[in-house]
Amino acid sequence: MKLISVIVPCYNEEEVFETSYKRLTEVLTSLYRYDYELIFVNDGSKDKTIELLKNAVLNDPKVKAINFSRNFGHQIAITAGLDNCKGDAAIVIDADLQDPPKAIIEMVEKWEQGFDVVYGKRRERAGESTFKLVTAKWFYRFINRLSDVDIPLDTGDFRLMDRKALDQFLSMRELYRFVRGMVAWVGFNQTFVEYDRDVRFAGTTKYPLKKMLNLASDAILSFSNVPLKIASFLGFITSAFAFIGILYALYMRLFTHNYEPGWTMLMLAVLMIGGIILIVLGIIGGYIGRIYGEIKKRPLYIINDKLGFDK
Ligand code: UDP
Ligand code: MG
Repeated sequence: MKLISVIVPCYNEEEVFETSYKRLTEVLTSLYRYDYELIFVNDGSKDKTIELLKNAVLNDPKVKAINFSRNFGHQIAITAGLDNCKGDAAIVIDADLQDPPKAIIEMVEKWEQGFDVVYGKRRERAGESTFKLVTAKWFYRFINRLSDVDIPLDTGDFRLMDRKALDQFLSMRELYRFVRGMVAWVGFNQTFVEYDRDVRFAGTTKYPLKKMLNLASDAILSFSNVPLKIASFLGFITSAFAFIGILYALYMRLFTHNYEPGWTMLMLAVLMIGGIILIVLGIIGGYIGRIYGEIKKRPLYIINDKLGFDK
């Protein structure tokens, strides 16, 4: 029997855990021609998630748990689950039931048709703020223009990966991980199933603006060098302006009598060029920070304990 691994990252999900676990189990047992394992990655939760998890591991031979030593973030939690799964296919799904477990059935069908990656594509996104919808939409269009990989629009991390694609993905050990971009980069035969994204079943989002911005900058800086070229681009433009300015100044000085001492122009030029230089320095700093992070070669995550893996 083929084994399907389902990975669920959890960060302070005590309110949704039981329901999520129940719904997932229903769907997975209905796929009776497959064996399955359900791996919960506890990403340093500070609430009762751990106790609930331990309980589930004790009572259900299908359930396994990975306990991080602290919060390492969603993308790393996904990676740890995938690292530790044995399935012929692995599925990543959020704990909050925003991704409907039922879509797994369709994903498995596509997998059987020979696709190596089946991602979930959001048709509707109920209950998400206009701000999130608009920023997400523009962000994906932006990153696809900047980078060589084509990240499918309106997808998250809800997806199935065949072992072949999974092993390639896992061989990429970069620290700043934008998982959906990395999976797109891996290639193979990819397709999607559509689903309506629900509102979060309970609890609050674990992605505050700061984490979202971090993910966005990871995505851009890991998948594109275009921002680095902005420096030269702006340099050329300002030089062109400066050149025109010089010609103008010379003309006024040599052929007319109404030239002015004009410190306004001077101020503006200094401020503008100073601003541009600082922006560009910041961009370069973003890349250097990441080089620094990568070069330390620290492990991606630290596991406190693993439960249920010897069953
Ligand atoms: N999550 C995690 N670590 C974090 C933040 C989130 O493991 O630091 C998990 C969270 O428990 C959930 C999934 O990542 O299963 C998606 O988070 P959330 O639903 O809060 O994000 P949103 O849907 O609001 O973007
Ligand atoms: Mg969510």
